[in-house]
Amino acid sequence: MSIAGRLNALLMTSAFVLILLLCVAITQREYASNRDALLLQASAVAAGKPELAVAIHFKTAPQLAVAAEDFLALSPAVKRVRMFSNIGDELHSSVAPWARDSISPSLTELRANTSPLDEALTRFSSDTVPPNMEVFSLLIPEIELVRTIPVVSLIDPLREGLMREDFAISMLDPTAAKSLFVIGYIEIAISRTSLLLVGAPTFALSAGGGLILLLIFWFIVRTSTRKITEPLGKLARLADDVAAGRQVDPLPVSGGGEVRHITEILNGIIAGMVRHKKAIEVDRKMLNMKVDRREEQLTLQRKELDEAKEKVSATEDRLRHLAYFDLLTGLPNRRLFSEQLSLLLRLALRHGERLALLILDIDHFKRVNDSLGTDAGDQLLREVALRLEKSLRSSDLAHRSSKKEALMDLSRMGGDEFAVVLNKLPDEAAAIQVASRILKAMERPFRIGESEVTISVTMGIALTPAHGKNTESLFRAADTAMMSGKKQGRNCIQVYDDGMVTANKERLRLENDLRRARDRKQLIVHYQPQVNGRTAEVTGAEALVRWSHPDHGLIPPDQWIPIAEELGLITDIGNWVLDQACRDLAELRRSGRDLASISVNISALQLTDSFVDVVSETLKRTRLSANSLQLELTEGLMIGEQKNAVALVEQLKNLGIRLSIDDFGTGYSALSYLTQFPLDELKVDRSFVLGIADSPQNAELVKAILAMGKSLGLGIVVEGVERVDELKFFREQNVDCIQGFLFSPAVPIKKLHELLEPEHFKRSLELLEEQLKGDSMQIEKA
Ligand code: C2E
Ligand code: CA
Ligand code: CA
Repeated sequence: MSIAGRLNALLMTSAFVLILLLCVAITQREYASNRDALLLQASAVAAGKPELAVAIHFKTAPQLAVAAEDFLALSPAVKRVRMFSNIGDELHSSVAPWARDSISPSLTELRANTSPLDEALTRFSSDTVPPNMEVFSLLIPEIELVRTIPVVSLIDPLREGLMREDFAISMLDPTAAKSLFVIGYIEIAISRTSLLLVGAPTFALSAGGGLILLLIFWFIVRTSTRKITEPLGKLARLADDVAAGRQVDPLPVSGGGEVRHITEILNGIIAGMVRHKKAIEVDRKMLNMKVDRREEQLTLQRKELDEAKEKVSATEDRLRHLAYFDLLTGLPNRRLFSEQLSLLLRLALRHGERLALLILDIDHFKRVNDSLGTDAGDQLLREVALRLEKSLRSSDLAHRSSKKEALMDLSRMGGDEFAVVLNKLPDEAAAIQVASRILKAMERPFRIGESEVTISVTMGIALTPAHGKNTESLFRAADTAMMSGKKQGRNCIQVYDDGMVTANKERLRLENDLRRARDRKQLIVHYQPQVNGRTAEVTGAEALVRWSHPDHGLIPPDQWIPIAEELGLITDIGNWVLDQACRDLAELRRSGRDLASISVNISALQLTDSFVDVVSETLKRTRLSANSLQLELTEGLMIGEQKNAVALVEQLKNLGIRLSIDDFGTGYSALSYLTQFPLDELKVDRSFVLGIADSPQNAELVKAILAMGKSLGLGIVVEGVERVDELKFFREQNVDCIQGFLFSPAVPIKKLHELLEPEHFKRSLELLEEQLKGDSMQIEKA
């Protein structure tokens, strides 16, 4: 409800109540005067009827009736008229027709405590109301007003022989009035309800007047409250508009008092809101801009991420293939073959079947490599693999239960060595039959490029269960058989027999020599520098162990480190290399050469709980800071069985040593291990570098590996860079650290001393750059 409405209601209610009270007061007054007038009239009528005393005294009924009628005629409100003798006997009663049922009280009741000469007025409540007034009487209950008037005379009514004339005479003789005597009483009962209704017209009149007054008042109130509250209403509407943001212009300030004050406040609010709105608008625009930019960045990042993911999964696929298959021939490698063989072996033993392992080695393969080059050697290996496959597929003797199995029964074991498994053989002769067919197939000359090459092969055969019941023993037996064939002049097939064990004496001697190699000080450490391909700065060097054998000369580590691992000598040898490398670095620095760090290869078998102490003691002993040492770990360690590998590597890391992942990608593993170990550097293996300049596919793979390494925040070192175009490739890929024969092979410490001369690799790089320029000029010319 509006303020004006409320004000109106309040004033009008007050006015209504006031006027109502006024009407009631007027009606009340009217009633009182009507009543008093009627009572006066009644007294006057009684006083004006001297004959009434006579009639009462003599109980003259007709006269009493006439007199009663006169009283009844005074007003319609007169309900009842009764006459009493002075001792209270009712002499006459006249009642209005509607009041016949009303109860009539006795004179004593009517006149209690009133002196005989006084008029009395008594009130009784009554249920008898004039007709059609029942409803009204519910509002204002009916009251009977009863007047009793004494009728007096100068004559003592108790006088003996009193006659009518005596009354008349007493009237005429005022002197006779010596005393007054009560002759009787008249009762006049008046109905209050009827009396009230007599005043009804006055009430109606005053009510009508009141109504008109009320209307006039209403009109005045309405106009004036409107005038007073109009500015407030306007302000309220404006405030609504301001709140809803519809009002943005300041309001005109007019008038005075509170309205002016409120208008000014509202203007303040409007100004504030406009400022706020503008600020929000600017904020929103900026936010939108930021959101747009962020979205763009996100889409870009998502795209890059998708690409990276694709690359990584392609890399993983590729690596998985590399892990199980030989890159050159596409045949299963030693690992896959061994796994397959052990499976077949278990089945064969369970079912009592005969199984043969055949090892094939090309005779004098080195000669092909030396005379025709390694490319020709590679091609020959591929051709041999193809012929082997063909001759096996045409063989109905080698049972295969599935196509997949068929692909697994042939393997390139490495170098020029192949292996074949022959399953479910009826007898030894069947194995020899297959081997003979292979031997024959190899006799035909091979076409390698321009030239024809003729080769021979030597094969060793071992059968289960006779010659071995597990893969290792079976391999050893087949190997021994093959070696014995070589000794017997090559180009032959040898089935294993126990006598051949002596042929293994060679290996035994090697093992024994290896056990004593360290004590006899036959081990030496060579160092291969790692050079920045852009600045020619030497960033580090890798320590590579060699065995200087009295009979066989310098034996490269590939040939005996696995034996040392098998014999449990690797921890001893590895710790010695670590110590030697650290001492050499310290000595190098003492003599004034600057080398940031030295890298040492760590075999997976070396990494035991005590290794962390060995490293920290070695550092202490040689007084080298931890960051001078870098350890090269292999994938095998990270995906191996060793449970606490992560913890051990973390302990090494905590010493402050830098850690590299060596030969990355050469074994099969999910790349997830990379994130588990706290690595600093990734060494790209030589096998990935080979052929990079010729095969776009290889180049892509290397790029993916580099991208992944960089995304993991790893430093990159590329191993085995031999050619200047390889250097060019890696420089283009922003890889700086190069380790390879292009700069230097591994050299004795003395020679490293010379290589660390400041200008040494600068000169080499200048030459290489000239070569690069020459190449590109040649390409341009072409
Ligand atoms: P690796 O750790 O991958 O070491 C790199 C090998 O690649 C070295 O062979 C190095 O001479 C050779 N290399 C470097 N650049 C070129 C290049 O441009 N062309 C070619 N063809 N070869 C290059 P190395 O010295 O014969 O060592 C062979 C492997 O023996 C090493 O591979 C490493 O796994 C193991 N090894 C060497 N010393 C130790 C050692 O002290 N402890 C352990 N546990 N293993 C060692
Ligand atoms: Ca290494
Ligand atoms: Ca390596």
